[in-house]
Amino acid sequence: MAPRKALNGTVLVHGDAVANNIGPEVAPSISVSTTFRAPNPAIEPPSPLSELDIRNPKRHIYSRYTQQKGYALTYASGLAASYAALVFYQPKRIAITEGYHGCYATIEVYKKTKGADLQIIGIDDEYQPGDLCWLETPLNPTGEASWKVRDIQYYADKVHKVGGKLLIDSTFAPPPLQYPFKFGADCVMHSGTKYFGGHSDLLCGILVVKALEEWKALHHDRTFLGSMMGSLEAWLLLRSLRTLHLRVPRQSATATTLAQWLNLIASTPKGQTYEGVPGGVVARVWHSSLQGKDSRGFDPSTQLEGGWNPTFAILLDNAEYATHFPHLLKYFVPATSLGGIESLAEHRLQSDSGADPRIIRLSIGVEEVEDLKEDLRQALQKVTELKAKL
Ligand SMILES: *Cc1c(COP(=O)(O)O)cnc(C)c1O
Repeated sequence: MAPRKALNGTVLVHGDAVANNIGPEVAPSISVSTTFRAPNPAIEPPSPLSELDIRNPKRHIYSRYTQQKGYALTYASGLAASYAALVFYQPKRIAITEGYHGCYATIEVYKKTKGADLQIIGIDDEYQPGDLCWLETPLNPTGEASWKVRDIQYYADKVHKVGGKLLIDSTFAPPPLQYPFKFGADCVMHSGTKYFGGHSDLLCGILVVKALEEWKALHHDRTFLGSMMGSLEAWLLLRSLRTLHLRVPRQSATATTLAQWLNLIASTPKGQTYEGVPGGVVARVWHSSLQGKDSRGFDPSTQLEGGWNPTFAILLDNAEYATHFPHLLKYFVPATSLGGIESLAEHRLQSDSGADPRIIRLSIGVEEVEDLKEDLRQALQKVTELKAKL
């Protein structure tokens, strides 16, 4: 397993106490006001909007302007962030292969503004100047062949050679698992709905860029696209970020233990059992810890420096097992999405009509690993009995 890198928990816990904003509250207080009193010029000389430090504002004016600091910007959702990235880069062509189906739909909407001018190519096609490579890694499971960690540096070098840009959808590996800028990415996108939010109760998208100038341009666009987060969601996000460094490494470690254990079940021949589970029930496990080096020598552990992805997929023996399996679990909730503190088991076909009907996606939460293992074990046993009854 890759060595764990600690996120700076102190910064996460105290980072929102912006110096000029500290009050007696320990937790951030919430303000849902969309507008703010103008300062009295008799007391404070007026400062024009153009001189306001938008990243660290001393005062608020209107909540569509001032909500963030850093080179990261938050959006109303992951897809709102995706749309903002398209508007920002204005790519001539987009190189994209597989990945979250919603991003394709966002690209289709964006295409309406560009007509036939915007071409879609595959990430392994030849690139040209003006291309944007849209790389999701680790890759959301959409089909049997696609579940993997992709080599960011390889695609960065390839697209930079022609002067194009690389965007990484890093939703499946938030900090401290993966830092795509280290491998040449130009922009990092997250669906903050997943691990940053972490409690299945807010929608959020995040774009991170390297230069202040880019951030300012994105901020301008966001103001006039109107795609910022709501105040309540931003407040929930601040609460969530305080425990990101505790949640994500734990979810990653538990997922790795479970994936390795499930892989032992998958390697058990039919007719034998492994820890009470009959061989043949689990046909395959996809997890970055099982990926190994590729033909170019790329080792996924170099990229996932803080641990393996906490969401992964298993292939059951047949579609019938997969249909019933999520509903036989006690702690795993049968639901789509990922990244929350509660574990989820999803029959992938329900939300992605192109998926293999035998795939179950598991999003691992922060429960005790032994309880989750026991839950999976009993459901894997029950599913075979169910089959006998059918
Ligand atoms: C969920 C998800 C998105 C979209 O994010 P929303 O917050 O649901 O809009 C984009 N990419 C990936 C990989 C996702 O899992």
